Amino acid sequence: EVILKVQDLFKSYNRGTPVLQDIQMELKQGEFISIIGPSGAGKSTFLRCINRMIDPTSGSIVFDNTEMTFLKKADLRKQRSKIGMVFQHYNLVSRLTVFENVLHGRFGYKSTIQGVFSLFSEEEKELALTILDKLGMKEFAYKRCDQLSGGQKQRVGIARALVQQPKLLLCDEPIASLDPNASKVIMDHLKDICETMGITVLVNLHQVDVALKYSDRVIGLNKGKIVYDGIPEKLSNAA
Ligand code: ADP
Ligand code: ADP
Repeated sequence: EVILKVQDLFKSYNRGTPVLQDIQMELKQGEFISIIGPSGAGKSTFLRCINRMIDPTSGSIVFDNTEMTFLKKADLRKQRSKIGMVFQHYNLVSRLTVFENVLHGRFGYKSTIQGVFSLFSEEEKELALTILDKLGMKEFAYKRCDQLSGGQKQRVGIARALVQQPKLLLCDEPIASLDPNASKVIMDHLKDICETMGITVLVNLHQVDVALKYSDRVIGLNKGKIVYDGIPEKLSNAA
């Protein structure tokens, strides 16, 4: 089953030269895909086009059978809720607890007032704790995020994305700020999420060795163009 189909995608900022050109891509449900390429290749721009954090200049993005490019606000919100996002710098609210950050993955950070827990049903809280447990972070649920290590913060970032119960997880350089040990923990979790939950994982990486080790499929991006799309084994032979 195809979960994401990108056709003829172009993106330029401020009418400049395109930073994404003629992108064609089809992702299947449950695939683990890495996008690799040098800094400035357009990896981050591509992920942000998929969830419409930015608007593509032209082209079509069909996610979960819905064309993303013409959606009205309410429909866009509904589509976006099926797309989890994980960032290099975690994007957590540091003065809130782990539990609060994760719960807010479901509703955004609109309400960060005291007593925020009344917003959430018992089921939602249970889901959040189950996911934290899966990521080995349950014991940190009531710690403030600014007391965590980088690797722990990223596990909270992943948990926050997962409470949305997404079909697609977009990870923009999720291990670029982490040491090798923490990186391995994060990549192992992402792989496990893909395999046990059936979630499609699309991850931007600049470490080629990591991409080769974990991915079903690797996409090479250079100067805004796809220069490779295939199994990791073939890329290692080419390199
Ligand atoms: P990568 O994630 O592969 O490092 P990016 O998508 O961040 O690549 O950037 C691709 C190109 O687009 C770079 O030349 C970058 O400077 C440019 N770019 C990224 N964001 C913006 C922006 N908001 N405005 C203008 N140019 C941008
Ligand atoms: P990263 O590679 O970690 O995303 P960047 O420096 O590429 O960091 O981007 C940081 C922010 O600056 C992003 O929001 C990006 O859109 C913006 N940006 C990147 N390049 C440009 C550019 N040439 N002009 C304007 N904004 C840019």
